[in-house]
Amino acid sequence: MSKKHNPASAIQDLKQFGEFGGVNPSITDSATFTFMSEEEMIHAFHGEAPGCFLYSRHWNPTNRYLSEALAAMEGTELAWVTGSGMAAITTTLLQLCNSGDHIITSVTTYGGTFAFLNNYLKKFNIDVTFVNIEDHDSIRKAIRPNTKVLYTESMTNPMLQISDIPALADIIKGTDIKLVVDNTFTPMIISPAQLGADIVVYSMTKFINGKNDMVAGAICASEAFIEAISSVNDGTAMLLGPVLDPLRSSMILKNLGTLHIRMQKHSENAMYLAKKFKEAGLKFVYPGLPSHPNYELFNKIRNSDFGFGGMIAIDLETAEKAAPFMELMQDKGVGYHAVSLGYFKTLFSNSGKSTSSEVPEHIQQEMGLSPGLVRFSVGLDHDIERTWEMIKACLTELNYL
Ligand SMILES: *Cc1c(COP(=O)(O)O)cnc(C)c1O
Repeated sequence: MSKKHNPASAIQDLKQFGEFGGVNPSITDSATFTFMSEEEMIHAFHGEAPGCFLYSRHWNPTNRYLSEALAAMEGTELAWVTGSGMAAITTTLLQLCNSGDHIITSVTTYGGTFAFLNNYLKKFNIDVTFVNIEDHDSIRKAIRPNTKVLYTESMTNPMLQISDIPALADIIKGTDIKLVVDNTFTPMIISPAQLGADIVVYSMTKFINGKNDMVAGAICASEAFIEAISSVNDGTAMLLGPVLDPLRSSMILKNLGTLHIRMQKHSENAMYLAKKFKEAGLKFVYPGLPSHPNYELFNKIRNSDFGFGGMIAIDLETAEKAAPFMELMQDKGVGYHAVSLGYFKTLFSNSGKSTSSEVPEHIQQEMGLSPGLVRFSVGLDHDIERTWEMIKACLTELNYL
């Protein structure tokens, strides 16, 4: 684990030229590729022709450039890019588990991930144990001989809990269990693979692309794992076909070049709001302030150049109080009442009613998800003081302050 790994510098140091010397690599919009000899094609289908492209569901040169950039960012050997974040997550889990296997996961995950683990995997007779990811004893106790995966999010959705990745890696050391970490909320800020994660998954729909104009995902892992998922015989990615379109890859690659600056600005703006929320006496969650129970851990494991992230939540305690607040904020121009995150505009939604609505109410209660939790993805607002004045005006108009 190198302390020196810097995700932004690793991306900056790449030299990816286009075939005519373009500063952006050329886009290869071809589904299939020609071979000069039959022998070479046969080799390629046996995985014995390195550098040859067969078919774009398997590999495409443009996807390769983006994958290399993502691998550089994470410090993994390789990556593979998918058509959505869910595709990255489901491909990874279906590759690691056979029917009859077992997964241990944080109970607080993205709603779609929760639904996949809780409902969909029943089809394959894959058992899932949900734990509080901070309760390391319960994780140790949950381990079975058939456990294949320990799954978590670096910063959990929507509770903004921080996973102690080094400690989790320690728990599974010496076993066959793989630690899979969804780093969607904290690209650049946390480098899970540098902290001991085996596989890092992303929804690139969010911060990485940052434009809210597409869905996309990524799997960052060892070369062996990427080879396994893309095997023509039994690779989950090759056979289920969740590959990202190369035109989209080229767009994301260009946006990756500004990710470090965007993360800094999202973090700076969220920190500003957190301090104002505190001064105003609001009930809120932000892991960048010492009052958050995971602050010290977060500070220890993060790459300190990029702040504490752009996600913050206000707890208004009831859905009845949250609804008019969000409607008013959209009306007054604070941002958009929409799910998703990592956009240049501020987005807000009531987590329990939207992105975590797949989580049954009793489990929402168990994980401490308040029905009035308004989650913000703080945008790249130039004048965040002005944004705060707008939020404050909404709170005042509704008599919440
Ligand atoms: C959005 C999200 C996903 C799913 O990604 P899609 O690109 O929408 O498929 C997975 N994990 C987290 C943490 C997310 O926020």
